[in-house]
Amino acid sequence: MTDGRYVLLGAPGAGKGTQAQLVCQRRGLTHLSTGDLLRAAVQAGTAAGLAAKQHMEAGRLVPDDVVFEVLFERLGAAGSGRAASGGFLLDGFPRNRAQAEELDRRLAALGTPLDRVADLTVPDAILLQRLTGRRSCRGCGRSFHLDFLPPRAAGLCDGCGGPLEQRSDDTAAVVSERLAVYRRQTAPLREFYASRGLLVSVDGHREVGVVADELLARLVPLPQPQPSSRRA
Ligand code: AMP
Repeated sequence: MTDGRYVLLGAPGAGKGTQAQLVCQRRGLTHLSTGDLLRAAVQAGTAAGLAAKQHMEAGRLVPDDVVFEVLFERLGAAGSGRAASGGFLLDGFPRNRAQAEELDRRLAALGTPLDRVADLTVPDAILLQRLTGRRSCRGCGRSFHLDFLPPRAAGLCDGCGGPLEQRSDDTAAVVSERLAVYRRQTAPLREFYASRGLLVSVDGHREVGVVADELLARLVPLPQPQPSSRRA
């Protein structure tokens, strides 16, 4: 169990969702994905969901105030220990400078600043292939890939047996808009966090378990046991 606060940055298709699930399971962190929270809001037909829907379908960023609304009540709960764990890993947030600054302010108010940020890097040519082969479970949201992480039974979730589906924003046209938005608005956050000494860069173009092991070691390292101070 870890009670730190972490961010996973990376382009769409870099593997943030898959890696965040693995890292959170291993470290007992709460996984907070703004994409998942927004999709749930759309599904539930809430006011936030209605405001988000058209932006998501076009591959654009959802307005900041809508994202803050769905995220910050969860974040407060996780950061104050009221969620499953005191620690959390943010996946897909922040996506622009205003969101990064707002996150800093909220965490400062809770007295719990970020511990570390990982940037998951993957060559552009690979991102498109990854996104179009991506599938997720309609029941539990678990992620798969037709080529790289296939389910044991075609079309069915290994975890809950639910049907797998393709996200509507994983089509080629919407994907190219999402990648353009990422380069323009999100990629500059690497510098934002590097200048604060928080950033580690992890090569995401490797086998899933290898990437997860490096994230565990460099993003969410376990505390080293202290040498005993007792004399022999
Ligand atoms: P994701 O699942 O992280 O790829 O997000 C899917 C879509 O949700 C994005 O293309 C955006 O439209 C929206 N979204 C997710 N997170 C954010 C965020 N932090 N800020 C604005 N829009 C977001």
